[in-house]
Amino acid sequence: MNEKSLETKILHTPYAKPDAYNALSMPVYNSAAYEFDTAEQMGLAFTGRAADHTYSRITNPTVQYFEDRVRTITGAFNVTALNSGMAAITNAIFTMAQTGSNIVTSKHLFGNTYSFFASTLAAFGVEIRFCDLTNVDEVEAHVDANTCAIFLEIITNPQLEVADLKAISVIAKQKGVPVVADTTIVPFCAFKAKDFGVNIEIVSSTKYISGGATGLGGLIIDYGNFNWLSSPKLHVMAKEFGPAAFTAKLRKEVHRNLGAYMTPQAAYMQTLGLETLSIRYERATSNCKQLVEQLEKLPEIESVNYTGLSSNKFHTLSQEQFGDFPGAMFTMDLASREACFQFMNKLKLVKRATNLFDNKTLAIHPASTIYGTFTPEVRKEMNVSDKTIRISVGLEGIDDLFADFVQALK
Ligand SMILES: *Cc1c(COP(=O)(O)O)cnc(C)c1O
Repeated sequence: MNEKSLETKILHTPYAKPDAYNALSMPVYNSAAYEFDTAEQMGLAFTGRAADHTYSRITNPTVQYFEDRVRTITGAFNVTALNSGMAAITNAIFTMAQTGSNIVTSKHLFGNTYSFFASTLAAFGVEIRFCDLTNVDEVEAHVDANTCAIFLEIITNPQLEVADLKAISVIAKQKGVPVVADTTIVPFCAFKAKDFGVNIEIVSSTKYISGGATGLGGLIIDYGNFNWLSSPKLHVMAKEFGPAAFTAKLRKEVHRNLGAYMTPQAAYMQTLGLETLSIRYERATSNCKQLVEQLEKLPEIESVNYTGLSSNKFHTLSQEQFGDFPGAMFTMDLASREACFQFMNKLKLVKRATNLFDNKTLAIHPASTIYGTFTPEVRKEMNVSDKTIRISVGLEGIDDLFADFVQALK
């Protein structure tokens, strides 16, 4: 039989066990623990020799179904669902980093990821090597035997920079270092991370997958395509588990100890979100592209930054990696911080809110909010300007959206 389409696969992922009532929508198993018929079965389940659920900090049927759907779509070896994107990042990094190891990354990162690296992780003796990830030679120069990961965002938020993933993965492979990529900006319905050499994919499922701002969630997607024998921390486990060493360490130790597994309620909502992910993505990105093409012509706007515009400096690379519709987030620069605030306050349809890829269009001034507690020097290094507004485009009618921008710019 022919390979089924993504949409079909998402909708028809089978349950691990038949539901007692033939429920068409996966029930929410709001249970912390599970009963066993015998002490022997209990022992088997607790020691990982039987696949039964024991306790919902470790696994839960509703969350597992969500993980199974993502695994079906991505073709990954393993998917682990956490209760936020940050929980996915911290769990993944704690699985591979230890005192004395280093991470090669960029300062152009989501605010909390930067803070996790620069403050939380640095306090445990993990060295963070910030460099320009759009410069492959610089990346290569920063990697050494203690490098436990190259961490990047596929399109940085809010700078919208694009690294050459294939070039970076060649270096990573030569040096025996895994590529860990945060793909939140372009979800797996539109970007096949594995084909670009990514080993561990991280997604904040709060964003596109949830869709309606229904709750938080994060995913760690392990493609099982890395030889962990070269990992400073996982080489011992790699002797026993081979390419499954990362998932073994994560599922048997780190995620249980950190206790940030996804809740069944969130998994239920995000499982529903997955069913409409690709049609929502098509609509949101098509809206985004039409909007930026119109906004680019307006004299009130100094510049519009979206890698899908042919005028953008990352356009060619972005097209190679993400196609014609690289996400539904763009930024625009106005004359000043005051002009940005005036524009934001005049918006009638577009919501003043953080979050990304809600079904509704959202606007935020990053410098005074997400990066508001950072010093002006750090904001400068992170390339977060006072003149920039970030827009996440939703599913509204395009004419209504454009009209709201035009009236707010007057
Ligand atoms: C939102 C976001 C995160 C963090 O996700 P949460 O679900 O808010 O914890 C990480 N990376 C990127 C690129 C994001 O946009």
